[in-house]
This record gives sequence, C-alpha cells and structure tokens, in this order.
Amino acid sequence: MNLILLGPPGAGKGTQAQRLVDRLHVPQVSTGDLLRSAVRESTDLGREAKGYMDRGQLVPDQVVIGMVRQRLQNPVCAGGFILDGFPRAIGQAEALAGMLKESGRFIEHVVSIEVSEEELVQRLTGRLSCPGCGAMFHETNNQPIKAGICDKCGDRLVKREDDKEATIRKRFSTYREQTEPLKTYYGERGLLRSVTGSGSPDSISQAIFRVIGKT
Ligand code: AMP
Repeated sequence: MNLILLGPPGAGKGTQAQRLVDRLHVPQVSTGDLLRSAVRESTDLGREAKGYMDRGQLVPDQVVIGMVRQRLQNPVCAGGFILDGFPRAIGQAEALAGMLKESGRFIEHVVSIEVSEEELVQRLTGRLSCPGCGAMFHETNNQPIKAGICDKCGDRLVKREDDKEATIRKRFSTYREQTEPLKTYYGERGLLRSVTGSGSPDSISQAIFRVIGKT
C-alpha cells in the first residue's frame, strides 16, 4: 500500500507513520528525518538544508524530490511505503505523481490529520525527540520513564532546533500557504481521507486504519 500522511507540524504524522509501519509492514519515508540525518552528518545536502529548516521554511523542491526519488527506487519500497512530510507543496506532488507513474505505481490514500493550531503550539513547545531512534515524548503529556532519556533506545532526548515558538509559528504559516493546498489537490483526485488528530494516539490510529480500509 502506498500512502501519504498529510498534516501541520506536530499533528502526529511521525507517531502514526510508525504505527502504520507496524501494521502494514511497509517502510516509512520521512523527509524531515532524512534531512535531519544529513544535517547531523554535515553532508553537502545537510549544509544546504539546515538554514531553511532552522528558519521554518521549506527546503528547495529539487533537494527533497531527489532524496525521495532515490528512496522510492530502493527495493525496500517496492511493496509499498508511507510518505511522512512529503509532498509539502504542489510542485512536489506533481513530481511524485511523475516518478510513481514511471514505475507503474500510484498513491492509494492521502490521510490528512486535522488538529487546531492552538493545540499544536502547546504540543510542539513541549516536544522532546530522540536523535537515536526518532521516538517522540512530551514534557507533560507523554513523559519518558526516566527524565531526559529515551525509553526505547536509551539515548539522551533533545528539543528539536525548530521546535521553538517563533519557528513553530513560521512553520505553520509555511504549512498554510504551501502545504494545505494539497488537500484540495488530492481531494479533487478522490484520494483525501481526513481524520481528527485530537485524542489518544490509539484512537487516531484506529481512525486511520478505518479510512484506509484496514480495520
Ligand atoms: P518535519 O520533521 O517533517 O516537520 O520537517 C522538518 C523540516 O524539514 C521542515 O520544517 C522543512 O524545513 C524540512 N522539510 C521536511 N520535509 C520537507 C519537504 N517535503 N519539502 C521541503 N522541506 C521539507
């Protein structure tokens, strides 16, 4: 199954993508994770991307499109994939449609996770993430067992560079201007399935499984 997870920053795309991986046994392709690992390794791509990410802007299309193209050509994605954080602009969606067509594939569902902006700001400002395995925690809503340490891999948790309030606001306006139009784009193609992103992670997963016909 080929899926796209759409939603504003902090909607829970990463968390839900991991649950879909467990359920559907297909890999997650997260452009945010790929970019952060390029930044950590200080590759040419990472150095180019870092400034945009720190400012809450989108990294130029040709950079992320090239990254996704390479990833989707990998045999591990042959049986399906979950795109998390891509596409984020109409140009990216068109490039994706083109590259999938070349290999006789198509997107089956675009799941849009809907959460109000106020709730998202509250979630993101307290968010803690694990640089080792990508797991997410929260200072008040989802504390790790041991303060500051990842439950899953034992790495030290960090606040993401772009989870500061000013950057969060900027990421939202970027989302509204460039990413939200994708809802109309995929709606017109009959692919959009919306779910509420408020509530427990389990209830949200159930809603997602329902809209993609995997209950
Ligand atoms: P995320 O972890 O998905 O919230 O992504 C973190 C940051 O990486 C974003 O704020 C962007 O700067 C950059 N990024 C991730 N995915 C994309 C994309 N598809 N297009 C452009 N920039 C992206």
